Amino acid sequence: MADFGGDVEGFRAEARSWLEANFPRSLRDNSGALEEAMMGARRPTGDAELWRGRMAQKGWGAPTWPAAYGGGGLTPIQARVLGEEMAAIGATNPIVGMGTSMFGPTLLEYGTEDQKQRHIPPIVRGELRWCQGYSEPGAGSDLASLQTKCEDAGDHWLVNGQKIWTSGAQYADWCFCLVRTDTARKHEGISFVLIDMHQAAVETRPIKLIAGSSPFCETFFTNARVEKNDMVGPLNGGWSVGKRLLQHERSGQGGGRMLGTGPSLPELAKTYVGVDAAGRIADADLRSRIAAHMIDARAHALTIRRAASEARGNQNPSATTSIMKNSSTRIGQEKAELTLEIMGSRGLGWEGDDFTPAEREAVRGWLSGKAWTIFGGSAEIQNNIISKRILGLPDPLGANAQ
Ligand SMILES: Cc1cc2nc3c(=O)[nH]c(=O)nc-3n(C[C@H](O)[C@H](O)[C@H](O)COP(=O)(O)OP(=O)(O)OC[C@H]3O[C@@H](n4cnc5c(N)ncnc54)[C@H](O)[C@@H]3O)c2cc1C
Repeated sequence: MADFGGDVEGFRAEARSWLEANFPRSLRDNSGALEEAMMGARRPTGDAELWRGRMAQKGWGAPTWPAAYGGGGLTPIQARVLGEEMAAIGATNPIVGMGTSMFGPTLLEYGTEDQKQRHIPPIVRGELRWCQGYSEPGAGSDLASLQTKCEDAGDHWLVNGQKIWTSGAQYADWCFCLVRTDTARKHEGISFVLIDMHQAAVETRPIKLIAGSSPFCETFFTNARVEKNDMVGPLNGGWSVGKRLLQHERSGQGGGRMLGTGPSLPELAKTYVGVDAAGRIADADLRSRIAAHMIDARAHALTIRRAASEARGNQNPSATTSIMKNSSTRIGQEKAELTLEIMGSRGLGWEGDDFTPAEREAVRGWLSGKAWTIFGGSAEIQNNIISKRILGLPDPLGANAQ
């Protein structure tokens, strides 16, 4: 555990005693259930709701956001200490979702004072769910081709068009959305608006995924109303706002579950493949590939930690988030592949009692992990960004990339 000196150690003591008094022990190491309660069909109840309410009141669900909008007002170092203390007792942040990870930080940078006052506090309290209306049937990697139209209707805006792959749209209260406000210009004809999902003009149709669940939707807007004060950034100036949001999205994909979850690969291999006379994984080739994977995962984790400790103050994410996203998703997918390989025929389970829950989960995890190198911009698009924005190579398309 890092030692940051007197003041910070004082904060550590404060955080530890508050967590001791307020974190319900029934939620220990239960981040999956909490995440489901915040982002899925169910709303938090019981101890999950108690924990959400307490963290909301303290502002520690968004620890570094300004206290003026309900955030914790902590320094990045204090926030890290809070994270360490939470991890030490198996506590996770109950206030998760696109509001805290993507939209909130973007609004804090680009929003008007009125927009921040209206939209940030409910996010900090974990009361409202946000979804992302970016992709369209004809605009994915080439996002700036989007066609969803937004027209001036006097005292409000009118939005017509279709979005696709809108994660959690069926449960969302609000959508941050890129729309076309000028058909003559491409990137300079896009605006960033906030759409209330609780209106008859919005229809969501869930799409079933290969892994069996329906995490995202087709979303249709038919004369959807947007208030005049819910455009973020200037008219036709939404591309910069939208790109910054994508950087926040990718910075959240540089670690955590994208690195793969589940038991350690050596333990798994010893169980399924067996051990040699020296107690090592019996298959020498598999053993060296697992070792190479673990070295990559460790190097990635240390790089993330170094980058975080080198960052001074509340710096916004940059194009380097593309490197972290590609690195973490590759490592996570590799872990899922190795897991199935280790399980052999036991790694083919889908449903029924012939396979253990962990074996069935491994298959579903492997399938859903395929999406990691697609959402938030595909791996190839991240490579384009790295080559242009970080390496300074020429852009063959001359495009204003994401
Ligand atoms: C699980 C999941 C959740 C998602 N959630 C959301 C969401 O909440 N909101 C939202 O708006 N979108 C969401 N998306 C959509 C996601 O952002 C798009 O799928 C992604 O941007 C790719 O767009 P596309 O699917 O249209 O593929 P395409 O753009 O058609 O790309 C197809 C293939 O061509 C490659 N390619 C395209 N252009 C280039 C190029 N210039 N150079 C090199 N290769 C290229 C791509 O890398 C890809 O492999 C989600 C996607 C998934 C899988």
